[in-house]
Amino acid sequence: MDEIKKNLIGLSRAELIDEMARIGEKPFRAKQLWHWMYNRGETDFAVMSSISKVMQARLSETFEVRRPKVERELLSTDGTRKWLLKFDDGNEAETVFIPDMDEERGSVCISTQVGCTLTCKFCHTGTQLLVRNLTAAEIVGQFMAGRDAYGEWPTPDDTGRMLSNIVVMGMGEPLYNFDNVATALEILMDGEGIGISRRRITLSTSGVVPMMKVCGERLGVNLAISLHAVTDEIRDRIMPINKKYPLRELIQACHDYPGASNARRITFEYVMLKGVNDSAADARALLKLIKGLPAKFNLIPFNPWPGSEFECSDHKTVKAFSDILQDAGYAAPIRWPRGRDILAACGQLRSESQRQKKTQPES
Ligand code: SF4
Repeated sequence: MDEIKKNLIGLSRAELIDEMARIGEKPFRAKQLWHWMYNRGETDFAVMSSISKVMQARLSETFEVRRPKVERELLSTDGTRKWLLKFDDGNEAETVFIPDMDEERGSVCISTQVGCTLTCKFCHTGTQLLVRNLTAAEIVGQFMAGRDAYGEWPTPDDTGRMLSNIVVMGMGEPLYNFDNVATALEILMDGEGIGISRRRITLSTSGVVPMMKVCGERLGVNLAISLHAVTDEIRDRIMPINKKYPLRELIQACHDYPGASNARRITFEYVMLKGVNDSAADARALLKLIKGLPAKFNLIPFNPWPGSEFECSDHKTVKAFSDILQDAGYAAPIRWPRGRDILAACGQLRSESQRQKKTQPES
């Protein structure tokens, strides 16, 4: 069997410099590689023309520049595209590209874990037990595979690029895999490579309170909270993490989030579940809960999946809920599901990877 060579994707700049030092090369070599890998999207050392032929051969003896394998690609009638990616160990995760309505740019929704520990009751991903955390290479690789598919290498100017934004909202809870997520986002933000601005990246958490400040301080990306309920009673029921970090602590952590301001509001995601969290009283309680925070809302009509116990609120109820928030001065768009026909909408991502018997503790 062929030996798997070390993948240079996913190493931080410091780690890449260390790898080069191991084969007797100076930091300059790491800088050259960084440019080829992340600015030009090149995977073949033989094409890296600023590196000598001898050196190209040496690099290819030990290393590789590898993406996850695209196992399946699905295109929705609304332009949403979903990739099922296979990693070196055979595990799989999904990545989605959601074009804006004007179709000139859009967001790549990346996954951070295979499966999830958190079992949010409205989320299909939550029915897949955690298999493992994704590595930094696998997280960066999702975005790079998207760029490959859209032929967006080398990095053009900020204008005219389809894959312009990143939302860390796919499979898994990113703050339960923070080190790898942070390394990956730092690579994606690096100005000499892919160069996505932190203002174009939004990380969504179900509310891992102790990690929120750490995330804001290290990465400074936009924050989104999967809120979905305005009382501990309902949130405990639909999002078990609330028993560990109740609403009061979660909202305080939002107040403490570094960098949140009126120009960079915290997004509160709110899935509309019929008869559970969708009344006018809930909308008013929501306003009270987030009072004083620079906030905006995304109202997400529930996307049913086989075996789910909820129904979506009806159109009129969702509209009334949105109106109450908007009348109070907040943006509260209704995010009608995208990519529904290919199960690419919020909370619908899933893969067939199964957890091996008791190899991972649940958190
Ligand atoms: S909503 Fe997010 S945190 Fe909750 S189960 Fe789904 S993937 Fe996990």
